[in-house]
Amino acid sequence: MRATRFVFITGGVLSGIGKGVVSASVAKLFQLRGYKVDMIKIDPYLNVDPGTLNPIEHGEVFVCEDVWTFKPAPAYSFTIAEIDQDFGTYERFLDINMHPQNNITSGQVYLTVILRERSGEYLGKTIQVIPHITEEIKNRIKLVARRSQPDVLVVEIGGTVGDIEAMPFLEAVRQFRLESPPNTTALIHVTLIPFLKTVKQQKTKPTQHSVRELQSMGLQPDVIVGRAEDCLTPDVRRKISLFCNVPEEAVISDPDLNVVYELPLVFESQGLGRYLAKLLKLEQVDARPTLVNEWEKVVSLYKTTRDKVTIAMPGKYTFIHDSYISINEALKHSAAHLGLNVEIRYIDSSKFEEDPGLVEEELSQVDGILLTPGFGSRGVEGMIQAARYAIEKDRVFLGICFGAQLLFVAFCRYVLGMKNAHSTEVDPSTPFPVVDLLPEQRNVADMGGTMRLGSQDVYLVRGTRLYQAYGTDVIYERFRHRYHIVREYALKGRDNGLVVSAVDRTGSIVNAIELADRKWIVGVQFHPEFKSRAVRPSPIYSTFVRSAYEQKRAK
Ligand code: GLN
Repeated sequence: MRATRFVFITGGVLSGIGKGVVSASVAKLFQLRGYKVDMIKIDPYLNVDPGTLNPIEHGEVFVCEDVWTFKPAPAYSFTIAEIDQDFGTYERFLDINMHPQNNITSGQVYLTVILRERSGEYLGKTIQVIPHITEEIKNRIKLVARRSQPDVLVVEIGGTVGDIEAMPFLEAVRQFRLESPPNTTALIHVTLIPFLKTVKQQKTKPTQHSVRELQSMGLQPDVIVGRAEDCLTPDVRRKISLFCNVPEEAVISDPDLNVVYELPLVFESQGLGRYLAKLLKLEQVDARPTLVNEWEKVVSLYKTTRDKVTIAMPGKYTFIHDSYISINEALKHSAAHLGLNVEIRYIDSSKFEEDPGLVEEELSQVDGILLTPGFGSRGVEGMIQAARYAIEKDRVFLGICFGAQLLFVAFCRYVLGMKNAHSTEVDPSTPFPVVDLLPEQRNVADMGGTMRLGSQDVYLVRGTRLYQAYGTDVIYERFRHRYHIVREYALKGRDNGLVVSAVDRTGSIVNAIELADRKWIVGVQFHPEFKSRAVRPSPIYSTFVRSAYEQKRAK
């Protein structure tokens, strides 16, 4: 077995400069050389996982194929399947499933050490950040390497150098590098290079400062990736090289791109793949032309400008588009592979509540409506009105999870005449609880990691639109919910065209619905966007986008 190489990626100056995309692109460079890669994301926050975080606070919560039973100490176990949204980026770029164990949080690390202290594992010792917390961090990284045995493991450290909570992780990286044989680890620092309009110059000072901060912790980056609107000028690269102590060829531009999937090619053309391969003494120094060619073909699908399809997304987290990043990307994947461009219109659904006239005004302008996942009650009436509009005007519509549940609520209220029908999540005393807690959720008290999570087998009903999309009897899709469409009510809709198009293994839980006498109105309890990849769009998203486009052409 070849020894795993480790590439650590830190961020400087600002958060939110696309370190996740850089990390995925770096991993892609090794894939293009035929190597097996895996990725870790370290999140310095104290939450055990991001599952209880509001999307506005932290972007989307991504859901893995696998569920991991995290056992910090004897007698304790937690279910983890909800991980940082960067894992969505990794999966979309690399076309591999990420394991929930690969998302290491401060919460998990501290919980482990503290519970072990209680169980007596460190009897007689004072427990300290160094060495106990840093040991645990290094162990967690090694655990992933042992489990998945990649040739290269890329480890993205969340946050920005200088954050107090990230310090133990940076210290652990320092120790890890010190304890590893030479040429088996690399460190990439991603920073922002601001452009000052008045002097028309890219400025390197913030980068210098953040590298100095890194150096003061005993970490010397091997590569600096400079995030800027444009490519770094030769002068700026020279300066960074000199002040930050890295060779000029290791100062890499990370310019604005219309298509994120192009970044690995942009890096490759600057020699980053070669540079890292040599640094890590990998046998395959050059990218394999066939693999590069395949990726170029994928990227070109996204770069071509063509006919447009417009999708409205009514929801409650619409002012932060990252809250729906997997949905955004799934729509883009489908459109690109159909030879289309997609324009997404985010609509704060509470607007529909304040001004009902806006429903028609906004939704008549688009080719398809995607009703978003979500929790809680804000903006929900507006979302129901969007579903009602689709039903009454026969517009192409896809409801995802909460969106499917609210489609059903609209159907019960406005087609079946069940006044005030609702989900008990929003209205616990509704006369028609058409969406209700899953039976197994009734006794759940803890909120973290307790939803129905991860990949589940879904049984499709032949002859439905859903079946047409997937073309198979059993599919595996990812779930994240506590509530579900109540089967007894769904059956009441049969005479009015409501079809249950998918069920779970027992046949008793509704996993998808559709309206037989409408053009294309589908709701799915699962999240197909989590499995959509740049190279392989989700079947149901593709059918949705195609149907929306057909509706546009028919207008
Ligand atoms: N709040 C709903 C539930 O728990 C929907 C969740 C979601 O959209 N992911 O079932």
